[in-house]
Amino acid sequence: MDIHEYQAKELLRGFGVNVPRGGIAYSPEQAVYRTQELSGERWVVKAQIHSGARGKAGGVKICATEREVLEAADSMLGKRLVTHQTGPQGKLVGRLYVEEATDIQQEIYLGFVMDRKDERIVVVASAEGGMEIEDISAEKPDSIIRSVVDPAVGMEAFQAREIAFSLGLDPALIPQAVKTLIACYKAFQELDAAMVEINPLVVTGAGEIVALDAKLSFDENALFRRPQISELRDKSQEDSRETYASDRGLNYIGLDGQIGCVVNGAGLAMATLDMIKMAGGEPANFLDVGGGASPDRVLKSFRAVLNDPNVEAILVNIFAGINRCDWIAEGVVRAVRELELKIPLVVRLSGTNVEEGRKILADSKLDITTADTLAEAAEKVVAAWKSNAQG
Ligand code: GDP
Ligand code: MN
Repeated sequence: MDIHEYQAKELLRGFGVNVPRGGIAYSPEQAVYRTQELSGERWVVKAQIHSGARGKAGGVKICATEREVLEAADSMLGKRLVTHQTGPQGKLVGRLYVEEATDIQQEIYLGFVMDRKDERIVVVASAEGGMEIEDISAEKPDSIIRSVVDPAVGMEAFQAREIAFSLGLDPALIPQAVKTLIACYKAFQELDAAMVEINPLVVTGAGEIVALDAKLSFDENALFRRPQISELRDKSQEDSRETYASDRGLNYIGLDGQIGCVVNGAGLAMATLDMIKMAGGEPANFLDVGGGASPDRVLKSFRAVLNDPNVEAILVNIFAGINRCDWIAEGVVRAVRELELKIPLVVRLSGTNVEEGRKILADSKLDITTADTLAEAAEKVVAAWKSNAQG
């Protein structure tokens, strides 16, 4: 789960990271009011969306007068901001963050991520901040510093000092850099973060180290024990299809095609997407019903798939081990009847209780196409979708 920049800064401030003063605004008038509260001579108006690269997309504006603040806020609020991370539909700007402007002398990249292979939190840093990490690794790979933290001891001062020196920081700045690194590590660990990214972390003209941007994302499996974090969720920033499904306990990922998929197991789901593509179709989603799926869960899964208006055909592909084909078939039959399904449906069942499952589908007399193999199922659903779309 992602949160907004201002929320991330607030959390990091609590751990001792230095952040600029600022305030949230929901209207242009409120943005101006924030500048009066902050006083000073220059302010930055920042669109709060769950995406980076806002600067290049017009979502970060430095202003020198109240009039400029008003205009910047007016140009951003209520619009969808398209960055190269959001996709063409962009993300709705519902709130702004107004900050005192910072006088930048140097921009540093600082990130903390979970390395699954090492089973460790890894610090990634570069003196070439400001650009995105992908661009840094493409253009200045030698500038990237990587340091692995031992979870048994946490980040120690000597390790933080080593990173700070590798960044080529002035010795006078080292204590502040160490404090920032240790604070970020603590935030990562204590909040069950999946990522902490500060880009840029800047050195100001006055010799201060300040987090000018902040991105935090969280491990969703740990949210149950972090109520203060789950409160920060902003559903307006999420794919509404995914929110609908995850709110109902379904594993669902929205894609851009037309063929809806109901599958069990992530591996089989990936294989199913590949087969649909090979057959000339495009999957609309990835939905994993999991193991031991009840008819009710299958019905819910159909609802989630049909919640996407782009879905024009459905493929059910179940390789039942823990699952039972008869339960799946019962769920499919209920879904077709209760949801009055009008688009082509292809079902491939295999494994536990497959005969019972097939019988339920056949006895229903519903217009359901069956298939024995995944390849056959994929070809049939794509063919049915194409002929339906043309006719
Ligand atoms: P992002 O584009 O979404 O990553 O948003 P950032 O918060 O990182 O802002 C983008 C860029 O705007 C930064 O890399 C800075 O170069 C610039 N910027 C942001 N805030 C300030 C500021 O207070 N002063 C100055 N001079 N530049 C800023
Ligand atoms: Mn940034």
